[in-house]
Amino acid sequence: MKTLTKNILWAVITFLVITTAFSIFYSEQKKPQVLTIDQVAQKINANQVSKITVSGTNVDIHLKDNSEAVSTKEAETGLIETLKSYGVSNDALQKVNFDVQSDSGWSYWMSILIPSILPLIIIGFFFWIMFRQAKTGMSQAFTFGKANIKLFTHFKDRVMFSDVAGLKEAKQELIEVVDFLKNPKKYLDIGARIPRGVLLLGSPGTGKTLLARAIAGEGNVPFFHMSGSEFVEMFVGVGSSRVRDLFDTAKRAAPCIIFIDEIDAIGRERGAGIGGGHDEREQTLNQILVEMDGFERDTKVIVVAATNRPDVLDAALLRPGRFDRRVILELPDINDREEVLKIHSKGKLLAKDMNLRKVAERTPGFSGADLANLMNEAAILAARKNQKEINQQDILESVEKVLLGPERRSRALSNKEKEITAYHEAGHALVTASLKGSDPVHKVSIVARGRAGGYTLKLPLEETHLRTKSQFLNDLAILLGGYVSEGINFKDISTGASNDLQVASDLARSLVTRYGMSEKMGPVTYGKTEEMVFLGRELTTQKNYSERIASEIDAEVTAFIQRALRATRKIITSRGNVLKAIADKLMEKETLEQEEFKKIVDAFKLRPLVV
Ligand code: ADP
Ligand code: MG
Ligand code: ZN
Repeated sequence: MKTLTKNILWAVITFLVITTAFSIFYSEQKKPQVLTIDQVAQKINANQVSKITVSGTNVDIHLKDNSEAVSTKEAETGLIETLKSYGVSNDALQKVNFDVQSDSGWSYWMSILIPSILPLIIIGFFFWIMFRQAKTGMSQAFTFGKANIKLFTHFKDRVMFSDVAGLKEAKQELIEVVDFLKNPKKYLDIGARIPRGVLLLGSPGTGKTLLARAIAGEGNVPFFHMSGSEFVEMFVGVGSSRVRDLFDTAKRAAPCIIFIDEIDAIGRERGAGIGGGHDEREQTLNQILVEMDGFERDTKVIVVAATNRPDVLDAALLRPGRFDRRVILELPDINDREEVLKIHSKGKLLAKDMNLRKVAERTPGFSGADLANLMNEAAILAARKNQKEINQQDILESVEKVLLGPERRSRALSNKEKEITAYHEAGHALVTASLKGSDPVHKVSIVARGRAGGYTLKLPLEETHLRTKSQFLNDLAILLGGYVSEGINFKDISTGASNDLQVASDLARSLVTRYGMSEKMGPVTYGKTEEMVFLGRELTTQKNYSERIASEIDAEVTAFIQRALRATRKIITSRGNVLKAIADKLMEKETLEQEEFKKIVDAFKLRPLVV
């Protein structure tokens, strides 16, 4: 709408400019003398006229003194008859040079048309532009059944496999897929079937989209890109026709790759939904299945799809002959993280003594996207400090920012609040340092960050993919550390512990219902989580157990919490002097790094305990 008003404004301005130009142009011209016909007759008789030009009713008179005059005559009668009737003699007439131009003369029409029509043309032109713009909006609405397919061949920021760190198996798999397309004969001759679909699975930010773009960048095959949500936008009922359109286009361009990003937007389990949206998804999904089944043995089209929710994908999508190849993209391990950091430090000015390995060590659990974001935050931080290059410290500071949100130093704490926060965090930190097998404390701070009032960071010594019951018990005790410390030192509880308690309760419940870690309940999982399609979130947990079991579960959850609580109480009461030392230092310095914290705790020679 904004462009429309702008266009109208332009049209008006142009119109005004042109009309003023015309009027100035005309008024500048010397206005010729205007004569009546009898004056013309007199001048001819007086032998003052050298030439008369007639076009239509206009009469231009050229006088012998080189001046010009104009006159008009009636349309019906000839000029000569008129002049004769005014008493001009034949002799006099013969001395005048007559030039009669036909009415339909080009210049005659132009002289009439241009002044009157030109403004109309100009206005019309602007209307045309405006309508055209409105129409593109409209035609988008009218061609909604057509897929908005993006064909990637030469897009600007081309991504190559070398821009993707780690993910070796995934890359290998995809290189193979491209090879199928390039040398299909090799595979077909030996009787192999070209795979139809490759599903990239991985948590958000692990580089699924990036990898797909790398296929487009590397492979010399056409690459059609579409996002799952684009199938279902705006109008109901367009999804399946878009799918048809996409596959038709692709088959014509074969050999080629179709990439459907975020396929979970359409590929959700059918029949699981409430609300109107799910029918639409179902049809779209069915159409994809139909199209994929319609591939001949030698159809050289491969569908690559990406999702971070494989659990919600329809089983029909996953059966052989459809997305029969599944590639799992793991969160990067330490080597891969270092590599990702290297890739994203390209084009950034890093200090010479930068040790990216150290950064990688400190960022377990970061995804590729987190690491990319980390490098960018570090660069912004360095620029804000007016540095010429990014140093190690900038990156380490940014780690916490990416983890917890920006520091909120501006949030002023009263002395009382500061003390409470210090004892709360000291509680977490002390329990962490006291328990056998828990990860070392990496940083304790009472500076608010993101939504947290303060924080205690611990970092694993080595990366693990599995967690054990004793680790979970430690976690529970550590989570309660803040709550217990507040209770013991202030005989009161603040709201600052609420998030800890929430996490602890959820964890304890998972121990019982998901991990089978409760001896009493045994190795059984309880509850089935249902996906509600219309919100796309886990909303309900279907209860597949009796009321009696439910109360037993609750009892076991409470038992886990009580057990952790006892251990935490014991630590905090028996080591009150250590707690006070940590809290005092925190109030003084606000943030303690690993070494400072270790120095305080080591002075007390703590014996490791178990929950
Ligand atoms: P998703 O898996 O959610 O689709 P993306 O592919 O969009 O994640 O990744 C987001 C960004 O994270 C990428 O643009 C890239 O900058 C960075 N990234 C993720 N994984 C990697 C990786 N393995 N190597 C390099 N950069 C990565
Ligand atoms: Mg993505
Ligand atoms: Zn806490």
